[in-house]
Amino acid sequence: MTAEEYMEREARYGAHNYHPLPVVLERGKGIYVWDTDGKRYFDFLSAYSAVNQGHCHPKIVKAMTDQAEKLALTSRAFYNNVLGEWEEFVTKYFGYDKVLPMNTGAEADETALKLCRKWAYLKKGVPDGKAKIIVCEGNFHGRTITIVSLSNDPEAYGGYGPFTPGFVKIPYNDIPALEEALKDPDVAGFLVEPIQGEAGVYVPDEGYLKKAYDLCKAHNVLFMADEVQTGIARTGRLLACDHEGVRPDILILGKAISGGMMPVSCVLADDDIMLCIKPGEHGSTYGGNPIAAKVSIAALEVVRDEKLAENAEELGKIFRDRIGKIQSDMVELVRGKGLLNAVVIKPKNGKTAWDVCLKLRDKGLLAKPTHQHIIRFAPPLVINKVELLEAIGIIENALAEFE
Ligand code: PLP
Repeated sequence: MTAEEYMEREARYGAHNYHPLPVVLERGKGIYVWDTDGKRYFDFLSAYSAVNQGHCHPKIVKAMTDQAEKLALTSRAFYNNVLGEWEEFVTKYFGYDKVLPMNTGAEADETALKLCRKWAYLKKGVPDGKAKIIVCEGNFHGRTITIVSLSNDPEAYGGYGPFTPGFVKIPYNDIPALEEALKDPDVAGFLVEPIQGEAGVYVPDEGYLKKAYDLCKAHNVLFMADEVQTGIARTGRLLACDHEGVRPDILILGKAISGGMMPVSCVLADDDIMLCIKPGEHGSTYGGNPIAAKVSIAALEVVRDEKLAENAEELGKIFRDRIGKIQSDMVELVRGKGLLNAVVIKPKNGKTAWDVCLKLRDKGLLAKPTHQHIIRFAPPLVINKVELLEAIGIIENALAEFE
């Protein structure tokens, strides 16, 4: 089949809820992916930061295939001999008393919201049904009805009402707005992305997370960090909150916690919070399945053993420095942390970020625009300096062709 035929088949039989860049991939290894014609590309999206450890990392593949041959799924109706191993590993790795496994990022966020409300009623003494959770404008936490209820992006929420009540939206990176919202005694939690990834890699002011955390503590409100995209070494630390020494009360993880092999997500918290949810009150058929458990342990070992956070920190500085020096009218701004970066594109002669991404594709590098004028650049964290410089060269050449 030709690439055209693959794309036509998807359009014919699949829902039209995505608009992919026209390239059909069939293989991945490390930082590279190959299309159905055998052409190789740098992957500078990493499946929205799920593939931090690189495509098909041998250690993670082995963990997956070994366990798949033994036991794949038991549901949580019974114990299995692997889940506890993962729970012990993950809680020690991130430094929390307890973990609750789910599958997707959205489910982990939903779990955090439920846990926060339970805690408000059981521990904080908020009157039943009155709990409020503060969220930030520009957020992206996933696609469920409750989560799009938090969104102020019409593309995400439009046509999906009625929405879930109980959320207060304030501007991102705005401490006075948070201070004001926290005056309400029924506020139970504050949900925040340490960097807003989907919004276009918005990095808040230095000190924002710490100030927000301290304010939450002063008001007996749970600080919940959605690190689904920023976590697992992406921004140059294990967690983006680590840059400011903040330990969230509820930590939400997904994506790279499985190295992109399968959907694994989780919520971490200490006993005082996590034990508010009792048997039967929340769950998931696939959450914490034995393959997920083994894959996730391997994926997190790779992050530690291969020092991916340190690599992201070092190479991220080089990326921003080099891209910032590009002489192009189309480059308005480069921003980011570690290897989560974005370039804001100023359209030129009718050419937009989409056209730049098509040009990059032609030259062997895959990236995707977000919100029309922003291109996110997030390679697998196993990339080395020589490879990064080659990729930067491709970006420079692509932009030069629009001059
Ligand atoms: N939270 C954040 C910060 C995300 O970036 C995403 C996905 O991009 C999600 C949650 C949702 O994750 P999933 O697509 O696995 O549901």
